[in-house]
Amino acid sequence: MVGIVIVAHSEQLAAGVCEVALQMAGGVSVPVLPAGGTEDGRLGTSFEKVQDALDRVLEQGYDALVLADLGSAVMVTQMVLETLLPEWRERVRLTSAPLVEGAIAAVVAAAGGGDLENVRQAAEQALTVSKIPELGVSPSLPIEMPEKAILEEIVDLIVPNPTGLHARPAALFVQTAMRFQADITVQNLSQGRLPVNAKSMMEVASGGTAWQGERIRIVARGKDAREAIRTLQALVESGFGEMEEAPPVPSPLRQPEQVLLQPAEGKVGGQLRGIPASSGIAIAPVFQYRPLTWHVEHRTVGSVGAEITRLQKALEQARQELLALQQEIALQDTQTARIFEFQRMMLEDPVLTNMLEKRIRQQFSNAEAAVEAVFKEWIARFERGDSELSQLRAADVQDVYQRLTRILVGAEEINLLRTLPHPVVVVAKDLTPSDTACLDREKVKGICTVGGGLTSHIAILARMWGIPAVVGLSEQVLEIPDGTMVAIDGESGLVEVNPPQEILRHYEERRVQRTSLAAVVLSQAHWPAITLDGHRVEVFANIGDVASAREAVDSGAEGVGLLRTEFLFVNRTAMPDEEEQYRAYRAIANVLDRRPLIIRTLDIGGDKPLPYLKLLPEANPFLGMRAIRLSLNHPDLFQPQLRAILRAGVGRNVLVMFPMISTRDEVLRALEALEQAKRDLEQAGIPYTREIPVGIMVETPAAAIAADLLAPLVDFFSIGSNDLTQYVLACDRGNDQLRSLYQPLDPAVIRMIQHVIEAAHQYGKKVGLCGELAGEPMAIPLLLGMGLDEFSMTPAAIPYAKWLIRALSLTEAREIARQALLLPSAAETTRYLKEVLQVVQEADRSSSQSYAMERAD
Ligand code: PEP
Ligand code: MG
Repeated sequence: MVGIVIVAHSEQLAAGVCEVALQMAGGVSVPVLPAGGTEDGRLGTSFEKVQDALDRVLEQGYDALVLADLGSAVMVTQMVLETLLPEWRERVRLTSAPLVEGAIAAVVAAAGGGDLENVRQAAEQALTVSKIPELGVSPSLPIEMPEKAILEEIVDLIVPNPTGLHARPAALFVQTAMRFQADITVQNLSQGRLPVNAKSMMEVASGGTAWQGERIRIVARGKDAREAIRTLQALVESGFGEMEEAPPVPSPLRQPEQVLLQPAEGKVGGQLRGIPASSGIAIAPVFQYRPLTWHVEHRTVGSVGAEITRLQKALEQARQELLALQQEIALQDTQTARIFEFQRMMLEDPVLTNMLEKRIRQQFSNAEAAVEAVFKEWIARFERGDSELSQLRAADVQDVYQRLTRILVGAEEINLLRTLPHPVVVVAKDLTPSDTACLDREKVKGICTVGGGLTSHIAILARMWGIPAVVGLSEQVLEIPDGTMVAIDGESGLVEVNPPQEILRHYEERRVQRTSLAAVVLSQAHWPAITLDGHRVEVFANIGDVASAREAVDSGAEGVGLLRTEFLFVNRTAMPDEEEQYRAYRAIANVLDRRPLIIRTLDIGGDKPLPYLKLLPEANPFLGMRAIRLSLNHPDLFQPQLRAILRAGVGRNVLVMFPMISTRDEVLRALEALEQAKRDLEQAGIPYTREIPVGIMVETPAAAIAADLLAPLVDFFSIGSNDLTQYVLACDRGNDQLRSLYQPLDPAVIRMIQHVIEAAHQYGKKVGLCGELAGEPMAIPLLLGMGLDEFSMTPAAIPYAKWLIRALSLTEAREIARQALLLPSAAETTRYLKEVLQVVQEADRSSSQSYAMERAD
């Protein structure tokens, strides 16, 4: 049995449609309920009225078909549907059928005993069978509407890209939809899903996702509906920019074989097998990690407004915390930092915030109780999903839930994994992305979890940091007492609990003398990067703070090619003064000892505003008041930084570098500013380094093309391939839609790099490269062959880069570069360089490497 609910902007309209439908259908006894206008009788749609009408139909045991007039009626209905228990929601369909004809057809079909699906279809076919013939047009032709009358645009599309409408493409889809005013829904027709709000990441991730080849319907209603549909259509049809290079398809969760824990000599012992998620061997005592939980009181609040404000403040704080975390991770790996994107979008999700506020408003609930109820519902919803991605999303929602609850109950942010007394293997049921991101990388030797798959956040982060990890273990792992010795093998997925001495020794031996390439690479991390024919280059690190400086040294960095000083300036309300900067730079220089430290002056501006700097909003921040332009305009910012750098250089190997140079004049002004800083320190009698080498980043096409004019002014160049790519190709480096265009191996970019290297060498100046390209294995032979003197990269990439350089001769690298520079596209260059890499890796060159090293000694 099916009842009908009519949702309209006018009370009279909804009532009228009900009346007409019932009369035309011959006075049948089908419940047809109106939900029109607002509570106080104005034009609009009321959440309560829709909820009430639906409750009444469902409570009587009927399924419900909802017909709505305009966009916001659909949105309100969708919001009501979100609040229904899942088993009730199953019994409701929202249709885009025409209001009057659809209602009549639905009533007739319901009276005839049709089920919910029959009734929906009857309603949706109503226009074709009733009005179109009268209008004199063929039903298969689109009806031409006058421009003004167009309120709704619809498009059906097949999802073309390999990962479908999931994860990053879903985030991109939502972000794009949010740019429009129109109400937009997306519906997976292939799976027979309900339309969901396209501006809600939560909705799209739970009910709007689609796999490659599935058909989706996008409906936009509102003034800019046409534009919205066009843009979204283009986005979907472009495969969300991932058609050229498909990311690896997540491997299905392999069902691990479990071996029961046996008590051995009175202690817990034996083996467990899980999914190997991050390679390497770890031997250390167990630390059972149980995250802190907070008791949530359920109170009735007096002032709904005040409680909503409290909620909004908590949401904002959570957003800020996540942003800081994301920035911290981005300093090491921008790609990995994106795993927090979904969480940030969640905090801005209109559906989620509406649900929370509604709960407070309607039930006079305190904010933490509302968060508990709403988030648990979402967690359950994602957990019910059978895909690995859905499980990932559940972990994200759980993570944000814990963060928000902690903020609302006023608890301190304590992470037990941040401060560990000694090396451990962390064992946990699950680790949230935030837990994993904060763990002490010195002390955490390995990770074992019950939850998680190969593509889980834990696995991604563990791989990035080179921490061995086994996931998907049985719950028995949680019973291992704290302090029990375990040996884990991140390649086979085996966990040995309390192993006898000989097994421990065996693991230890394997750990120390791993014969795999990775082990060789790591063990030779501190060898210099000398090619087989004796040409030496420098391999440096890109760092952002003292911790990463230590990591750099441990990874074999011969210096720092880029210290991003932004880390000192962001996420705070006041500028760091000269003293604070001096101490920070000095601390890093001390870690590096005599190794060179290239300190880049502040690279901030337009897109990354500092709250304490009053910057004007800009239409094109990447082309605006950024980096050196900002510093030259703000001596109050620039001078203290230059003085701090000069002071930090006393007795240390400090160099200074200016970012985003475009013109010769900028270099001259920056040099003059440096002289000014020296004069001021001199006058004040403060010790500083007089002979500081000065470099510039070459990351604008202007600087690259005019490199021969700039080289005589400075001591070195460092090519910023990240920005150079974006400016050469006129392609925003952060815009996911342009991912296939943003290619540092594009012929235009690599030719420009070659030109810069040649220009610098003409003047006897050294050239480094500190963009992501320097650490990209396939680009290393090319850059080496082009004559690059210094490669600067994320610390984790250093051992392999050095190994690779040692496996090549300069002569062959030159030939590789010559060939690569002849190729006409990034795709062909990439293909060629990948082949080269494979050949080098497969050839066993270890003996020739040792020979070359001996000669170098
Ligand atoms: C670059 O642009 O390549 C670079 C290293 O600088 P950043 O990524 O900090 O802009
Ligand atoms: Mg840059």
